[in-house]
Amino acid sequence: MQNEYQLTVPRAVYSGENSIEKLSEIINLGSIKNVVVFTDAGVLENGICNKIFELIEKSGAIYEVISDIRPEPGTADVTQAVNRINTAKCELVVAVGGGSVMDIAKLCAAMKGASYTIHDLLENSSIMKKGIPTVMIPTTCGTGSESTYNSIVAVEEKQLKVGIVNTSMLADYVILDSGMIAKLPKAIIASTGVDALCHAVECFTSNKANPFSDLFALEAAKLIFNNIIEAYKNPDNREAKSNMLRAAFMGGVAIASSGTTAVHALSYPLGGKYHIPHGISNAILLAPVMRYNLLDCKERLAIIADAVNPQGVNRTAEEKAKEIIQRIEEIVKETNIPTNLSSFNVSKEDLNFLVDAAFDVKRLLNNNMKELNKEDIKNIYLEIL
Ligand SMILES: [Zn+2]
Repeated sequence: MQNEYQLTVPRAVYSGENSIEKLSEIINLGSIKNVVVFTDAGVLENGICNKIFELIEKSGAIYEVISDIRPEPGTADVTQAVNRINTAKCELVVAVGGGSVMDIAKLCAAMKGASYTIHDLLENSSIMKKGIPTVMIPTTCGTGSESTYNSIVAVEEKQLKVGIVNTSMLADYVILDSGMIAKLPKAIIASTGVDALCHAVECFTSNKANPFSDLFALEAAKLIFNNIIEAYKNPDNREAKSNMLRAAFMGGVAIASSGTTAVHALSYPLGGKYHIPHGISNAILLAPVMRYNLLDCKERLAIIADAVNPQGVNRTAEEKAKEIIQRIEEIVKETNIPTNLSSFNVSKEDLNFLVDAAFDVKRLLNNNMKELNKEDIKNIYLEIL
């Protein structure tokens, strides 16, 4: 556990049924006249944004919508969106969507009227300055993008995704309203929910874990272990969904204070080259990586087990750690997420590429309590082929 640590959270977080109404207050407080809403075609189609448009209009502001954001936005998408918010004289960015939408919205808000380009930021993200205020309204329960200050951008010419990191991108306001995920398809509840579980478990077992991140990671883990199956199986259970939204937010806070580990490191090449959704590749990797980490992480995993199942405290740390890994496997199976890569056309011939690419994600591998060499990484991939 490290000695120096930080806690960064958005300025205000509103949670609970109908907390979406707070949007009017935010607009009025800032005397905002021009809003740009970032969203995607799917969210727009299922009508989630209608209430938001209504609230903006009622507050006397006008809005423009940017909805042509691709699932893995690239540098060209960013430049195009920045041009649009500059033309719209935008004073407030509202992001309604999942990780990709929120990531690009945070980035564009910090680039409004700026002299730096996306390519300048990819070279050196420390030049970024605080831009116009942002409101993050997540419509999935996983990425935690609403509470982090990272933005992932696809760099097409290099065939890889790069994270731009700067505290200027921390959201000003976050609204966690379970109404926003009321109609979320089951499969997305599952994959984004397990992604949030990865954030919680990885941050809690990270070399960067600290008292601040532990608080959020442990609570997130507890909420997800106790609610994900219910939120998946019973779409009408608003309480379970509300708990999942809160957990995803807390997972993001934990990432910003601690950091993810080998699960995310091994997951990135699967997303970058084979376009396997982030939540799915993480879900496939979580139990195998934790089993590999077992001896180094058992005390930390046992604390999670005690938080989830307080009745089972009279057992050894190893027994508890094994139980929590088994629980992860059950969740992946019960939510019908694949447990290996067989349906994604990844073969043994791809192993060398995967191992080299994952080994390059040093930023995250260094957080893993068990040091992983290339042989270890290969063994983990072999297990999930
Ligand atoms: Zn993630």
